[in-house]
Amino acid sequence: MVDFALTEEQMAVQKMVREFVAKEITPNAKQWDIEEKFPLNVWHKLGDLGVIGTAIPEDYEGSGMDYICHAIVAEELGYGCSSMRGSYSVNISLVAKTILKWGTAEQKQKYVPPIALGRSFGCYGLTEPDSGSNAAGMKSTAEKDGDYYVLSGNKMWITHADVSDVSIVFAKTDKNAGARGITAFLVDKETSGFTPQPIHEKIGLRAQDTGELIMDGARVHKDQMLGPEGKGFAVAMSALDNARYTVAAGCVGTAQAALDIAKNYARERIQFDKPIGGHQLVQQLIANMVMEIEMGRMLVWRAGWLKNQGAPNTRETCMAKYFCSEMVNRACFNAMQVLGGYSFSGEYPLERMYRDSRINTLYEGTSQIQQLIIGNAELGISAFV
Ligand SMILES: Cc1cc2nc3c(=O)[nH]c(=O)nc-3n(C[C@H](O)[C@H](O)[C@H](O)COP(=O)(O)OP(=O)(O)OC[C@H]3O[C@@H](n4cnc5c(N)ncnc54)[C@H](O)[C@@H]3O)c2cc1C
Repeated sequence: MVDFALTEEQMAVQKMVREFVAKEITPNAKQWDIEEKFPLNVWHKLGDLGVIGTAIPEDYEGSGMDYICHAIVAEELGYGCSSMRGSYSVNISLVAKTILKWGTAEQKQKYVPPIALGRSFGCYGLTEPDSGSNAAGMKSTAEKDGDYYVLSGNKMWITHADVSDVSIVFAKTDKNAGARGITAFLVDKETSGFTPQPIHEKIGLRAQDTGELIMDGARVHKDQMLGPEGKGFAVAMSALDNARYTVAAGCVGTAQAALDIAKNYARERIQFDKPIGGHQLVQQLIANMVMEIEMGRMLVWRAGWLKNQGAPNTRETCMAKYFCSEMVNRACFNAMQVLGGYSFSGEYPLERMYRDSRINTLYEGTSQIQQLIIGNAELGISAFV
């Protein structure tokens, strides 16, 4: 049976988050962007609503809901503010869910509940100055020294680098073993030799912290290893399977916001003695946006349906991420076309949405990398080797 209807629970989550976003996020997102300031107070309110931990089990202070609810929250946050949606993706999809999958009982109890409640931040340090798409080419090392590992190297472009209480960091425990020589570690904020360095003047996601992590002899106890030694690449890829999903859902939300702005404008703006929405080429722009948003949402929910069953979903998640990240850029571009010159100013939030959306085809694996993963799934031939 194929059922496109949301359950009562899913509709209730959608309604609650939609109302919260309309009241607390959409009206303020412009100011947060200008001030390059993350609204911690609003994040705490989201935590109090139980929304940050939607997809985290109740044993870890989450709401224990399914992956469709997880996507719904990401979509609604993406509607109001991509920086906030990004924090949701990183804290929950990249960090909390990865600790839940790979962590020891102690690690899960220590790190997951405060993140699910919105009282703690985490980050995921995979990318380096010289390794992005080719993550296995990282240079960071973790040298064993008794019960400790000594971490050295730099991580680049790390969301929440400066504000995280815990960082999942990947480093080579065996420099000669390629991807099989990578190990994941949980590094606490106060660890000496572990220093964040903020990055400013991004074109988008300005309300969200991004930075570098400098590891200069940071000593981490062996109990802080996340997953087995040498399994760090698998840890990293499992995290991306979750994060690409919420990125895709967030793109659907931002595209929907762009469409709603364009629709309102097309009904009101008069040119050639009629609303511009009455001109066929403007309707074409609107129709394409509507169709592509629906397509994106279906791809996201299909991936979520597989995730709910614990079924393999890398191919479907990559398709959702690839399509939705490209689609939201087209949607913002086309919505700006509908608004004409007025879209080019801060009077409408489209200019921010346009800037914020650009990241989506770049991070969590570029569009080219998504295509190579999908191609490999279809052909059984890896273009990476
Ligand atoms: C705002 C922001 C936040 C980020 N947050 C995080 C984070 O929290 N954690 C983290 O670890 N990283 C993060 N990143 C890093 C991001 O994931 C990387 O930038 C991304 O993976 C691409 O790597 P790169 O920038 O090194 O580009 P490169 O890998 O150098 O790629 C450059 C170009 O070459 C293409 N290319 C590379 N290899 C191939 C290939 N085999 N076939 C075809 N084309 C190829 C790419 O598609 C791209 O077009 C963030 C980046 C930004 C900008």
